[in-house]
Amino acid sequence: MHVVCSQCGTTNRVPDERLTQDPVCGRCGEELLAGEPVELTDANFDAVTSRTEVPVVVDFWASWCGPCRMMAPQFAQAAKALKGRALLAKVDTDANPQVASRFAIRSIPTMVKLQGGREVQRTSGAMQASQIVGWVG
Ligand code: ZN
Repeated sequence: MHVVCSQCGTTNRVPDERLTQDPVCGRCGEELLAGEPVELTDANFDAVTSRTEVPVVVDFWASWCGPCRMMAPQFAQAAKALKGRALLAKVDTDANPQVASRFAIRSIPTMVKLQGGREVQRTSGAMQASQIVGWVG
């Protein structure tokens, strides 16, 4: 499995059976699937999502959005539960207008599930951690 480091952009090859064993980036030492959401931006979004082979689940949010802030701890909890199985990421739609407009995000929070950089599923509205885990599958 290829997993791109969200810190330095390096593509790391991780054997399937090691995905859940705290793999770290070969270049910068950052934990690749740390079980917590990573920040994606207009600058690194494509590099991380297109070359990462585990599912990437993106939470599109903004700081002024009450339901987004309510969902944040639930999303973090889901990231912990999905550690080693999926990469959970957050995109601040105000700070990253290019990605937000490419995905035509009209309401937030919206979660988009990507596989190999392509959207396979999306849902809008705040969800509980268990619902997020169930939705990611
Ligand atoms: Zn790195």
